[in-house]
Amino acid sequence: MDIIEQNMLEVHNPFNNELLEILPGDNRVSVLEAISRAEQYDYHLTGWQRYEILNQLCFLIEAHRKELKKIISLESGKTLSDADLEVTRAYQAFLLSAEEAKRINGELVPLDAVVGIEKGLAMVTREPVGIVAAITPFNFPLNLVAHKVGPALAANNPVIVKPSESTPITAIRLMELLHEAGLPEEMMQVVVGEPEWIVDIFCTDDRIRKISFTGSTDTGKKICHKAGLKAVSMELGGNDPMVILSDADIDAAIPIAVDGAYGNNGQRCTSIKRFVIEECIADRFIDRFVDVTRKLRVGDQLDPTVNIGPLINETAAKTVRNRIEATVKDGADLLCGGRRQGALLWPTVLDNVRNNSPLVARETFGPVAPFIRVKDFDQAIDVVNDTSYGLQSGVFTNDLCKAKAAASRIRAGGVMINRAPGFRAEHLPFGGIKNSGVGREGIKYAVDAMTYTKTIVM
Ligand code: NAD
Repeated sequence: MDIIEQNMLEVHNPFNNELLEILPGDNRVSVLEAISRAEQYDYHLTGWQRYEILNQLCFLIEAHRKELKKIISLESGKTLSDADLEVTRAYQAFLLSAEEAKRINGELVPLDAVVGIEKGLAMVTREPVGIVAAITPFNFPLNLVAHKVGPALAANNPVIVKPSESTPITAIRLMELLHEAGLPEEMMQVVVGEPEWIVDIFCTDDRIRKISFTGSTDTGKKICHKAGLKAVSMELGGNDPMVILSDADIDAAIPIAVDGAYGNNGQRCTSIKRFVIEECIADRFIDRFVDVTRKLRVGDQLDPTVNIGPLINETAAKTVRNRIEATVKDGADLLCGGRRQGALLWPTVLDNVRNNSPLVARETFGPVAPFIRVKDFDQAIDVVNDTSYGLQSGVFTNDLCKAKAAASRIRAGGVMINRAPGFRAEHLPFGGIKNSGVGREGIKYAVDAMTYTKTIVM
């Protein structure tokens, strides 16, 4: 990505830096115009009309699957199979949103619960919150836009999306498909350009009522400081562990661990960012994990035989490479990988990593597998919780008591038993605690967060 003039945005393929598109970027006037246009939406769409539009969008997504898959892969660097999975997930997110559009239910509350107003009746309704500003990251250019746009529209709100400046083309194509599906243009708009001042306008303009952000913890904190009394949802970074206990089924765990660490080129908020493994099985597990890692192919994300494409840009790859070096200096053993070429980074395994080493103390976004050895279950849980993040965790064990104990003792938004932490289904609540965020996505939960309750007493 390059912002070449105040209002021109270049989008590049991170693999070879090929120029994909030059987009006219937004300026202060055009962002304010987008907000004014959104303000003109008169809330005329009924639940079933929103259902039909979102359903029609699903049909169009399926019809344009090949095209969407290619755009996602080109601008984000993810492999075509990861991009295909993303299209499927976005399809599901919009289908679930269509269904939620018909279920914006309130409740009746009898007033005889308190003395003196026995004859009264209260109705609690759920109302659209108003204009939603959706700010999204580069790593899922379609599905993370879907997780904001779908619920916003289901709840009858106009939405303005500011996608990552690295991956705006997918969001613009989605907007065109939504308009083709019959959505009034003022209900979904996309603005692109210099993030800081666009988001500043979102934070300070009173007509924006909700800010739904997905991205890094640092950016999320800055936005929260500026957003004042607006409703916010923050889906932020993570430092997710996969715990492997001594009784784990290693055959089952290996392929899940490999996909959990390297899927999406290791650039998922819930990628495995730390392996926490009991000492007595560590050698056996790590040897096999390294064997599989060495066989993975790195290169052009459009080549169907490639498993790991480029990181989002060369700077990102350099950052990860520097942290690998610093972690080796800190005493870790580099078992394989570590090579960098442009934005490509070869999948890297490190052993004997400390939980506060440079690679794991902060979120690292890339195909890296740091192993932290522990003596027993209790130490594993202590290591897992010794972090400022709390997104998701995975625990591999065949002991039901340990599975239950881990689920209750781990402080995170989700605990996956015999799965990698990266498990997410579009209808489940998803989000973190501590520095990993505030609020929950998952279609039904995001719809809730995009409405406010109104109490009507009769
Ligand atoms: P990022 O924070 O750099 O950017 C996210 C969005 O914020 C982009 O639209 C960007 O243009 C905008 N932005 C960047 N700097 C800004 C600023 N100073 N002021 C206002 N807006 C700004 O994140 P990224 O690199 O695009 O994405 C990776 C991060 O997102 C990782 O930390 C990852 O864990 C996180 N993420 C979280 C989830 C989740 O659901 N919890 C999902 C995906 C990604």
